[in-house]
Amino acid sequence: VSTWANVPAGPPDPILGVTEKFKADKSPKKINLGVGAYRDGQGKPYILPTVKKAEKILSDAMQDKEYLPITGLADFTKLAAELAYGKDSKPIVEKRLAITQSISGTGALRIGTAFLARHYPGAKTIYLPTPTWGNHIPISKDSGLEVKQYKYFNKETVGLDFEGMKADIKAAPEGSIILLHACAHNPTGIDPTEAQWKELSDIVKEKKHFPFFDMAYQGFASGDILKDAFAVRYFIEQGHQLLLCQSFAKNMGLYGERVGAISFVCESPEEKARVDSQLKILIRPLYSNPPVHGARLVSTILSSPELTQEWLVEVKGMADRIIEMRERLYNKLVELNTPGEWGHIKSQIGMFSFTGLKAEQVDALAEKASIYLTRDGRISMAGLNSNNVDYFAESVSKAVK
Ligand code: PMP
Repeated sequence: VSTWANVPAGPPDPILGVTEKFKADKSPKKINLGVGAYRDGQGKPYILPTVKKAEKILSDAMQDKEYLPITGLADFTKLAAELAYGKDSKPIVEKRLAITQSISGTGALRIGTAFLARHYPGAKTIYLPTPTWGNHIPISKDSGLEVKQYKYFNKETVGLDFEGMKADIKAAPEGSIILLHACAHNPTGIDPTEAQWKELSDIVKEKKHFPFFDMAYQGFASGDILKDAFAVRYFIEQGHQLLLCQSFAKNMGLYGERVGAISFVCESPEEKARVDSQLKILIRPLYSNPPVHGARLVSTILSSPELTQEWLVEVKGMADRIIEMRERLYNKLVELNTPGEWGHIKSQIGMFSFTGLKAEQVDALAEKASIYLTRDGRISMAGLNSNNVDYFAESVSKAVK
């Protein structure tokens, strides 16, 4: 009898499973709106021109393939921190920001939650918004944190349940860990306003909670790096000691390169040194040290003022294409007299839109129109383009009528 005879079959990943079904479909009209990866106007994966330039620079330089240090490429982590916090940010200037390279945003979250499980002095419970990115839950649990939730989404208004969110965060025991999506909330596409972030900062401070920011979409949400970093920078100004996860998957299109960072705001350089030492102790047995290529690409771009300028234009181009698709989809749904209110498609931000489509309608779209999305009704806006947006709107219209 086989050693693995008793291994039970697990369920497929709810997001990556959608792609499997899409691949198996033979229809020429098929559309994959499941996975959150940017597509250009032709529906193709997009390599940013600045990334191509950086590749060329790196290829000409032919650097060796030696191991990076445990916490990654120092040039990269410095530039990543400056991008998120700003060059003049106090924790950076005062040399009290502990930061390590990570295996993209997922790895950042994994290191962050594992660090909290080991060293957080309060209750090892993390509060996640409902809904949240599906992977937040297993990442937190596998790291040994208990998962609780706070309200976020209002089904009736297809908007933010700000009162519910505030009430739940207030009701959490003092010193709780609160995970916040810094911008472009996944899956809803709904963010607090700047005024609401200010209120949230006050509540978090009053309750001595610990803010844990996941920023997977800086620049990709609004097209503006600074605007998307508002919440993080405001919390820093307010003196919060926070933890920040960054990813370069979306904003540089470096998905498969797995390049990200996680940073800890410390009280002093001496404390930073202690946190650094524990980061190394945590990471060494996990994967020893991170991959080098993606970090070199990012630092090649961010260390050059010219390439950085070009990159900012490219990020805005991606964000703008998505915003344009939101307009087109909304207009077409209205033109077709599609039952329901669709204004949220335009007001939501970032990669995703929470359509409000029900699971049965999602199933019908797959069956009848070869259109694939997750059963919560989330669509990846990037999967839409001028060639398929009308077909998508017509199919949705049929599905809800
Ligand atoms: N956090 C959120 C909210 C995300 O949407 C994603 C990507 N889907 C990630 C983190 C991590 O992505 P990656 O590991 O590819 O950087």
